[in-house]
Amino acid sequence: MLKNYINGEWCTSSATNYLDVINPATAEVLGTVPLSPATEVSSAAIAAADAFTSWRRIPPTERVQYLFKLKNLLEEHFDELARTITLECGKTLAESKGEMRRAIENVEVACGIPILMQGDYLEDVARGIDEFTIRQPIGVTAIIAPFNFPGMIPFWFMPYALACGNTTIIKPSEKVPLTMQKIFNLLAQTGLPKGVINLVNGAKEVVDAILDHPIIRAISFVGSTPIAKYVYSRAAANGKRAQCQGGAKNPIIVLPDADLETTIKIAADSAFGCAGQRCLAASLAVTVGEARQTFTEAISEVAQTRIVGYGLDEKVQMGPVITRESQTRIEGLIAKGIDEGATVLVDGRNPKITNYEQGNFIKPTILQNVNPQSEIARTEIFGPVLGLIHLNTIDDAIALVNSSEWGNMACLFTTSGAAARKFRYEADAGNIGINIGVAAPMAFFPFSGWKASFFGDLHGQGRHAVEFFTQTKVVVERWPKDWTRQF
Ligand code: NAD
Repeated sequence: MLKNYINGEWCTSSATNYLDVINPATAEVLGTVPLSPATEVSSAAIAAADAFTSWRRIPPTERVQYLFKLKNLLEEHFDELARTITLECGKTLAESKGEMRRAIENVEVACGIPILMQGDYLEDVARGIDEFTIRQPIGVTAIIAPFNFPGMIPFWFMPYALACGNTTIIKPSEKVPLTMQKIFNLLAQTGLPKGVINLVNGAKEVVDAILDHPIIRAISFVGSTPIAKYVYSRAAANGKRAQCQGGAKNPIIVLPDADLETTIKIAADSAFGCAGQRCLAASLAVTVGEARQTFTEAISEVAQTRIVGYGLDEKVQMGPVITRESQTRIEGLIAKGIDEGATVLVDGRNPKITNYEQGNFIKPTILQNVNPQSEIARTEIFGPVLGLIHLNTIDDAIALVNSSEWGNMACLFTTSGAAARKFRYEADAGNIGINIGVAAPMAFFPFSGWKASFFGDLHGQGRHAVEFFTQTKVVVERWPKDWTRQF
């Protein structure tokens, strides 16, 4: 049974409902996660509020010493953490290692907080008057995570929250809670004062308790769009600051002058990496003009030869999807696409994966002649399914990108600088890739997202995270000489 970590102690939840944590490749039960009651969120919030009073007074240079320790512990336990991600989430070991690397990068960036958190100062805004801004921590914050990056996503927020002097509660996805359990074992070894960081496992009841708890001042959420919208609205109605990353439907555009070999490799990694369960997965490939035939043939070939299986097996290039329900949903969407007039170029449904018959596998699937207005062209699939659309000009392609309700990522493949500039200038998406298939920003840039893919103003990572986790105080100061003379 997994535990919660509240006020510096591992505690057994008083939950009466539990879920099994299941390896999506083998169907083996890896553990049991409690669906904690609201009272445990309250205990964590009270502990975090108590800790905040002294944590915020610790100089930033000292606060980051805990993060340096955490970075070293994460490096020491790197392989074990990556393995745990693969066990509970299904992605390949190489993908899990990539995920943990980005998590660590965020710790490294947050260690720069003594510079990142500085305010501005201007002397003599009027005669003898100085004005400056101070960035102060907000207080108790909470992080609610999705299933697809159990190691990385809490790190878009947590290192910055702590470095800025806040205290935090993390709620991992109930589907993949094991990685955070291991990470909290390491956090406990850093010697962080009790209550600074807390873990509450669970599902909707925990989220609702976080949204309504008066002590919690800011919420970082990543997950599907309907829940992101719900969390954003309820948090805002309760007067909380919120940043809520949602779902996506990412198009990649291939121009006739693109370098085919590189484009195919990158496009396939984007569409089928992490079994398509990535908010930056390519879901639609839009070929322009003569790119159609060459791209279609080459991507089909790559899709058919992708090695699918258990992520711990080094040869494997793609793992299973997270649950049987997810597999059924994805297969249903493929069928829906066919009903809507698309044709199946590569059909990955019902594969036989020797020794892993119980796993939730779907092989790479390619749908051709997808109608841009159809449901399959507009619904997030979150599986290894790539829809192909053909258009005549780059303007048509940009119009398609901009007509989408989503705005997480859009990528262009070309060797033309002018086309690239036009695309990055005009395309309405928060993360743009030029000859990049997964435009995932490094830790020192914000992880953007627009339209239905993001609710809020400030994103995770880098300077945005520092701004999100601090409130700006403006001080206007006058010290006339004749007042000071008496001292
Ligand atoms: P999800 O929305 O089902 O769950 C996310 C979190 O919300 C979980 O912690 C879950 O416990 C909680 N939750 C679920 N239903 C809830 C409800 N009714 N009320 C309150 N809380 C609830 O998302 P998921 O399936 O875990 O993750 C996949 C989704 O996340 C995809 O849509 C993907 O695009 C998105 N995602 C977005 C980004 C991004 O940066 N934009 C990154 C990763 C994943």
